[in-house]
Amino acid sequence: MLRPAPMHISSAYTKPPGERRATLLLLDGAREDVFLRLAADGDLPNISRYVLDPGGVVPATTVFPSTTGVAYLPFLTGCYPGTCNVPGIRWLDRRRYKGRWWADREHVRSYCGYQADRINGDLRSGLESLFDRIADVAVLASPFTRGLGRTANRVRVARALLGSAAHYTGNYGSLDRAVGRELARVAARRHALVFAVFPAVDGVTHFHDPWHPAVLATYRQFDGIVGEYGARGGFDGDHLALIVSDHGASAVKRHTDIAVEMEKLGLPTLCHPVMWRRDPAAAVMVSGNGSAQIYLDPAGPRADRVPLSAIESGAVPGVRKDVVSQLAALDGVAFVAASEGAGVVVVGEGGRAHLHPEPSDPARITYRTDGADILDLGEGGSRGEREWLVASLDRRYPDAPAQLLQLFRSDRAGDLLVAAELGCDLRDGWEKPEHRSGHGSLIGDHMRCLFAANRPFAGPIRTVDVFPLLLQHLGCEVPPGIDGTWEASATS
Ligand SMILES: [Zn+2]
Repeated sequence: MLRPAPMHISSAYTKPPGERRATLLLLDGAREDVFLRLAADGDLPNISRYVLDPGGVVPATTVFPSTTGVAYLPFLTGCYPGTCNVPGIRWLDRRRYKGRWWADREHVRSYCGYQADRINGDLRSGLESLFDRIADVAVLASPFTRGLGRTANRVRVARALLGSAAHYTGNYGSLDRAVGRELARVAARRHALVFAVFPAVDGVTHFHDPWHPAVLATYRQFDGIVGEYGARGGFDGDHLALIVSDHGASAVKRHTDIAVEMEKLGLPTLCHPVMWRRDPAAAVMVSGNGSAQIYLDPAGPRADRVPLSAIESGAVPGVRKDVVSQLAALDGVAFVAASEGAGVVVVGEGGRAHLHPEPSDPARITYRTDGADILDLGEGGSRGEREWLVASLDRRYPDAPAQLLQLFRSDRAGDLLVAAELGCDLRDGWEKPEHRSGHGSLIGDHMRCLFAANRPFAGPIRTVDVFPLLLQHLGCEVPPGIDGTWEASATS
């Protein structure tokens, strides 16, 4: 564990007291309850001193799919994945993909591998990142770098080398220590914003479960890193210090591979890692591994998504019309969602439910059940989208209304969206090493994430709200048209 070192700030970097600064530490995959338990047990003394004692933790939710990389975008853009047009860590461009293995490889995306950097160019044009708005920034180990100069992203090489080794060995601790050493170096430079990513909690969790001693050790190591940073002046000035996570995690006991199940239904299915299938009836793109998006007749190509009514009337070539109900009945599947006009239909066992933005006010969402309360919202009706967040926070699918609607805003999202239930993920066979924990679904264990700040705030907070919070603190203008708001989740 790193020990706090004596403070040694070069006078060359000293700026007037009271300057506004911010630090955003992203503890990938950290669960709020694990974090709070460790803090209560006295295992996070540095985090308690610098962050929790002056501030605290408030309830927070991430985005759907609750997956590393995609779920970083809200912090950095203030927008949902659907708004960013990056609907998952894997997706298919239905307008361009024509079924050719080599010629069309750029029209199918997986950010796990050689296409990792593409996330920067895939982001919808016109969106601004934190790095566009804040000039004086130090960024450590971020996979998202749009708006940054090439050298401004520190720990880039170590992240690539140590990260790919750790994927197989589980040795994420060395990667976090490398980020921690660089964080200690930048502490005294008094940047306006420091953003650092710590992958170890998520990486080690995949090998175990969220409460495993090896996972708890990564939180404690991170606490030592925070202590070192604080001792070197990292939190000086009028400082907003945030420790956040991009999603939670839960133990995985069984795997339901959607691509395998589609083949059993007689549908030739394209999926990673071999991105070729003769005359595919479907393509399955898994995110996280708790959710999957399915593209029907993927080699169309097609201009638009296929609505549920068209699928169920048998209008898609080669696709049986009962495919949605067949998938929804699979063990391990919580529900299947599809679009219908501007709304979303959610199909589960025992019925279906409908979500619609109100035509006169898209910030209000109507939920209507048809046989079953699939999204466990308790009752139907029309509410503001923030009211649904509050109402759903402690239920089975936190923030489900806004999250399902936002994802289908992306024209790259699948025709069908499959969410795994607790204890199950949606990929088997080629996931090496096997995941013993995962995330990516809309369930509470995945959607609830960590938001700790060194000043008291009222919750609940969405991860998209962090972007305007940071900009306002630093005195920067908040760009119009983003999904996050700060006024709605005001200071307590
Ligand atoms: Zn993550």
